[in-house]
Amino acid sequence: MPTLNEALRHFELPRLEARLLLAHVTGLSHAAMVSAGPDTLPAAQWQSFAQLAARRLAGEPVAYLLGRREFYGREFVVSPAVLIPRPETEHLVEAALDKVGRNKAAQVVDLGTGSGIIACTLALEAPQWQLAAVDLSPVALAVAQDNAANLGAAVQFYHGSWLSPLPADMRFDAIVSNPPYIERHDHHLDEGDVRFEPRMALTDEYDGLACLREIAASAPGCLLSGGWLLVEHGYDQGAACRALFAAAGLQQVATLPDLAGNDRVTLGMQP
Ligand code: GLN
Repeated sequence: MPTLNEALRHFELPRLEARLLLAHVTGLSHAAMVSAGPDTLPAAQWQSFAQLAARRLAGEPVAYLLGRREFYGREFVVSPAVLIPRPETEHLVEAALDKVGRNKAAQVVDLGTGSGIIACTLALEAPQWQLAAVDLSPVALAVAQDNAANLGAAVQFYHGSWLSPLPADMRFDAIVSNPPYIERHDHHLDEGDVRFEPRMALTDEYDGLACLREIAASAPGCLLSGGWLLVEHGYDQGAACRALFAAAGLQQVATLPDLAGNDRVTLGMQP
């Protein structure tokens, strides 16, 4: 059997990925791995690592191999039933906290919650808020419920399409969503990690704006006066989203950039 350091170098993997996979099978911290001596790995650990490395080399995303991904400083369970959390979604979380105010009582819903990262993060960052979360996929909802339970986030989950499963008289201080917004023929769908993600979480199977259109049209009717609609979208969808929000009667419509400077989040207020 190889030593830990030999195992780290054994496959043509980026060093960080090899280290994450090896930490996963050995249970060792980064510090413990750095100071590891010349002991060889137990056979079972070496075999598990070799299997994960082979799957990674065949393209499977590290997050799915580990079953975990960090978002907003917390660790979330992920599976191939849900999108892998992306750092740009943290802007949506920050914008919601900023617009509603994290120290006020508020009713907030996350539409298409997936792994539940947005709803759980908001529930934990703003303990006075009451969070609801909706998803069409029962398997995704199970992942989201796992995350809420693991993190102690109080979130009420609903199964269905967008606002439809929510009680008809429910009104919100904020409606947030990271819907599928990739155009059906976009080449990104066939590349890299994205190939392994659930297609229904990525694309509307249309022009990329179908879900954003539906949300912009229906959400304002469920917002309280002064309530906010906030959505994540593609780098080239800012102007289209602002137009949809304005057409739906929202005010103070604006688009915020992500760290790369791309349009990423559009928001508007119900008058
Ligand atoms: N940001 C993701 C990507 O570009 C897409 C996520 C989504 O469609 N909501 O891969």
